[in-house]
Amino acid sequence: MEIKDILSIVEREKINFIDLKVVDIWGKWRHVTLARTNFSEKTFYEGVGFDASNLGYASVENSDMVLIPDPQTAFFEKIGEEKVLSLICDVYDVNSGKASFHDPRSILKATLNEIGDVADEVFLGPEYEFHVFENVRYSISNNEISLKIDSKEGFWNAEETGEYFIGKKKGYHRIPPFDTLMEVRNEIVKRLLEYGVPVKYHHHEVGTCQVEIELNFISALKAADYTLLVKHVARQVAKKFGLIVTFMPKPLYDEAGNGMHVHQFLVKNGENIFAGDKLYGLSTYALSYIAGLLKHAPSIMAFTNPTTNSYRRLVPGYEAPTNAVFALANRTAAIRIPAYVKDESKKRIEFRTIDASCNPYLAFSAMILAGVDGIREKLDPTAEGFGPFERDLYNEDIKPLPYTLSQACSALKGDNEYLKVFPKQLIEHWIKLKTKEEREMLAIPHPKEFDNYFDI
Ligand code: GLU
Ligand code: MG
Ligand code: MG
Repeated sequence: MEIKDILSIVEREKINFIDLKVVDIWGKWRHVTLARTNFSEKTFYEGVGFDASNLGYASVENSDMVLIPDPQTAFFEKIGEEKVLSLICDVYDVNSGKASFHDPRSILKATLNEIGDVADEVFLGPEYEFHVFENVRYSISNNEISLKIDSKEGFWNAEETGEYFIGKKKGYHRIPPFDTLMEVRNEIVKRLLEYGVPVKYHHHEVGTCQVEIELNFISALKAADYTLLVKHVARQVAKKFGLIVTFMPKPLYDEAGNGMHVHQFLVKNGENIFAGDKLYGLSTYALSYIAGLLKHAPSIMAFTNPTTNSYRRLVPGYEAPTNAVFALANRTAAIRIPAYVKDESKKRIEFRTIDASCNPYLAFSAMILAGVDGIREKLDPTAEGFGPFERDLYNEDIKPLPYTLSQACSALKGDNEYLKVFPKQLIEHWIKLKTKEEREMLAIPHPKEFDNYFDI
């Protein structure tokens, strides 16, 4: 939207509040709400100062930061009876007057700029898997470590209670009454469509109370903005139903986890450059992009799978990838080439490793820079031993993906030259932050350890 159009709607409709949203380092939205009397054209140039230290950014002396709203992101949110104008912001450094090097959104913009010789645009089609629970209670104290989750669908052992239940690993595309979440998904999607998010479809997923919403292809920056918007709307709507949503990669033991697969292709001079006459109807560019993604997969994962919980998902048996390989239709592979795509303009690859615990700006940047590095280096995925593998690779020791966050962080330490627009300071800060998260988690005795070692 143009700034003048935004201002005139605010004036005409007497919008009282302007909500400025900004992403923190972990990938969560924070917000500050301006009163109408403090909102004007100047807000778009001078911004609004804020305390950046609470956003998890690296501390740097003399760096006063401001939020600069991006008018292109305007949407109107209903909060109670109030129609609120929402704007997603970039973070600027007051002293230099430029985008702050901490700002994930500016890093994604810089990425898209950096790859200009290879592509004019990157199109992404993200898939959001998540769980919808009735109640979650957990306790971590020195004498109680417990977790109790309830869902409308019961769990696989609900068989004993005689309730309607889906059955373990049988939820995929199930119909009501077994699918108890259609009404919630309808409401979420209706609201997303109102906000301009191009939803493709929604459905029940394999797991108990696990669902999915998929978007049509959108440009990379929009895809990252919408990732946070989808999570925000899903949570808000679920709350109205007395339910609670989580995008955690693996909330339930022995059930499918939540991935955030991303379909992707590059466009140059208006053409999808992934369509071609090589393997699987792909171009040499697409194959090299695949090789770049797979070559750098262990280090990208510090950004695409950046939580300790991410690695509980990437285990054999639940359709999540475990190997840095590609294939036509193999769900154990990090990259899948969807076989059903006949339309040349939609020819694409699907990166399946990534999950929604990422900061989407940093994760998409890392992913795109890795793929483009493959193109610049003219890598051939077959020569590099990345496949294609059309068989189930669970439990095969072929190009295994990292299976802990610290393995991914070590990979990032040794392999980050391709992340050209990521400041070194940010990479160091990220590794420190993530190592701390893992060490804190490791300090807590785990129920499985009681199973293994209590009688030792
Ligand atoms: N839930 C699976 C995952 O963790 C993916 C299932 C699917 O292919 O949609 O990645
Ligand atoms: Mg799915
Ligand atoms: Mg998928």
